[in-house]
Amino acid sequence: MTFKELNLIDPLLKALQDKNYVEPTAIQQKAIPQILAKRDILGSAQTGTGKTAAFALPIIQLLHTDHSQERGRVAIKSLIVTPTRELAIQIHENLEFYGKYTRLKHAVIFGGVKQGSQVSALNRGVDILVATPGRLLDLINQGYIKLDQIKLFVLDEADRMLDMGFINDIKKLLKLLPAKRQSLFFSATMPANIVELSDKILTNPVRIEV
Ligand code: AMP
Repeated sequence: MTFKELNLIDPLLKALQDKNYVEPTAIQQKAIPQILAKRDILGSAQTGTGKTAAFALPIIQLLHTDHSQERGRVAIKSLIVTPTRELAIQIHENLEFYGKYTRLKHAVIFGGVKQGSQVSALNRGVDILVATPGRLLDLINQGYIKLDQIKLFVLDEADRMLDMGFINDIKKLLKLLPAKRQSLFFSATMPANIVELSDKILTNPVRIEV
């Protein structure tokens, strides 16, 4: 199986060539076609399985494909929420790399640092935003982030998110997301409280395990 056989577009295939990736990993083979078909995903996968590219590549493809008509400042169309600053930075770096032959704009926000440069990035226009929950809600409350154009929502490492006490933040966030959206939900483990949360977020999801 090759990335080309997954029907990825040339700008992505070119970036993957630059990375010298030869074969999609198991989660990439399973998730990419479903995400491109606009299905919701319930994925159990650990870090290290290639999970980031499994959602980043199809998100870039879906947004790139209907990006060409847009003029002026872009609105946030995909929101990726992850529990830690390290993960947020990593996902953002991956998006920058895989998206380097597209014109999509990415930004990352997380707590523990001054918000100034993050706000400036938001003001320049962002297609795909990577965020940790606390800083995200903070900047939403201050009016710097609007979620009404979100088409694709990703909740990454959901079990860690709950372990870190982010459940109320996630519930607040869910109320602000458009009802009509595609959602991707990833968790290394699937205990009852995670399944319950995933039920609130997903519509008729494809279950993917690796
Ligand atoms: P992740 O699970 O997303 O943290 O990815 C784990 C590591 O695997 C990262 O260093 C990726 O750059 C790398 N990786 C992701 N997909 C592939 C692939 N198809 N082939 C080789 N390496 C990959």
